[in-house]
Amino acid sequence: MNESELDRLIVELRHLYEALDPVGERQAAKQGTSCARGCAHCCHLMTAITLPEGLLLADLVLARDDWREVLVRMAQAAKAVSQTTRVEYFHQQRPCVFLDGNECSVYADRPAACRYHYAASPSEQCSPGYEGPMQALNLIELEGEVWNFATHTLGDEGLTTAPIPMLVLHCVEGVAALRGHEAAGAARALIERFGIQNPMEWAMRSIAQQVDEPIDPALVEAVMATMADR
Ligand code: SF4
Repeated sequence: MNESELDRLIVELRHLYEALDPVGERQAAKQGTSCARGCAHCCHLMTAITLPEGLLLADLVLARDDWREVLVRMAQAAKAVSQTTRVEYFHQQRPCVFLDGNECSVYADRPAACRYHYAASPSEQCSPGYEGPMQALNLIELEGEVWNFATHTLGDEGLTTAPIPMLVLHCVEGVAALRGHEAAGAARALIERFGIQNPMEWAMRSIAQQVDEPIDPALVEAVMATMADR
């Protein structure tokens, strides 16, 4: 990928969000939602995003004056992601690296998993203190459109989904290298120092856990080698 291809990918992703958002908003208005500005329960979840979304968020990080601090927070969160389950992570109540107070600092560019996640049950049921399940609107087809976009634009690599801090940190390294930004070296150093997993490896292990089957390490190696050749 070169810089102009990255720019085009970002423009197209934003257009896709613009096209899908009204569908989600109509469904939320029709079925009812307790989601409201200032509620950030779901910003403490381990939220997995697609590769184009990671590239867009990485580009936003590079435009910030405080990108160094953001990268360190991201590396710490990415390490925590690697070491825990989704449930434990939620109970640790680690705020998303993009959460500023109770507001999303990348709201216009927030990923599909955040964008199309509408709570149907009262917001208290999204809090870690609530023992029962929460109800959400089923808008999986909107997230599916973003996954399709990822594979359509990036091929097999577009299958990568990983938690926000892990994927964005790796994307920062790549985007910074493309843009000639000094953050490329900083991101690489943090990935090595904190021992951050490769997002594709995380995604494969996550799938294996969901289907409750041990994953063959040789398969992970083979996929990683294929990715490295691209
Ligand atoms: S990207 Fe924004 S909406 Fe999504 S979890 Fe982070 S702060 Fe919350």
